[in-house]
Amino acid sequence: MSNRTLTLTDGLYDYLLAHSVQEPEILRALRQETAQHPMAQMQIAPEQGQFMALLIQLMGAKTALEVGVFTGYSALRVALALPPEGRLVACDVNPDYTAIAQRYWEQAGVTHKIDLRLGPATETLDQLIAEGAQNRFDFAFIDADKSNYPTYYEQALQLVRPGGLIAIDNVLWSGRVADPTVTDNRTQTLRRFNTALAADSRIVLSLVPIADGLTLALKRPEP
Ligand code: SAM
Ligand code: CA
Repeated sequence: MSNRTLTLTDGLYDYLLAHSVQEPEILRALRQETAQHPMAQMQIAPEQGQFMALLIQLMGAKTALEVGVFTGYSALRVALALPPEGRLVACDVNPDYTAIAQRYWEQAGVTHKIDLRLGPATETLDQLIAEGAQNRFDFAFIDADKSNYPTYYEQALQLVRPGGLIAIDNVLWSGRVADPTVTDNRTQTLRRFNTALAADSRIVLSLVPIADGLTLALKRPEP
């Protein structure tokens, strides 16, 4: 028995995948196609997608926001977990990546649930705020350029309702956040970001060591 989070050996990770991942065929097909892509490592892990889907169902979320779509795996997971009337606003800058995503969303029959917005996500989120979408979202997933994480987080805090959840990916950054010999800009941004969230009284926090580290920030109701 261990009372600290385990380091996963390859064998234990394979066991976890074999005994927990329930992945619809369409997601498996997208994951296999994405695995051939030169930027394949950007896609979230299947067990993480399944965990996010479980959170969405647990919350009864109907409205979701995604920053960073790539080939659409996490968006498809989220869209499939939303009820038929659910909606996902999905933000990315790269139409080549999202063309792959749209092909699979179409096949999965969820295109009507997903509003893809191409353009710098800070601008898209500002536009949503300007349109009056504050407190409109139940769930937000942040998984794009790390330098903008602090901005995306502040924008998501406005857009998510009190009691809503913001999930932020890659917060352990392959362990580099805890390695003092690593001093590049993105690592330092993530360190400052993690430190700030740990002291942020606006949220209830849990940093979950799944995949590359997933922070869950539940927006507290206004005092
Ligand atoms: N969530 C995706 C998945 O599970 O497959 C992976 C997202 S990938 C790590 C990051 C994405 O952010 C890329 O598709 C990239 O084009 C997008 N991106 C980078 N900078 C951006 C920006 N300024 N605004 C919007 N999207 C951006
Ligand atoms: Ca990621």
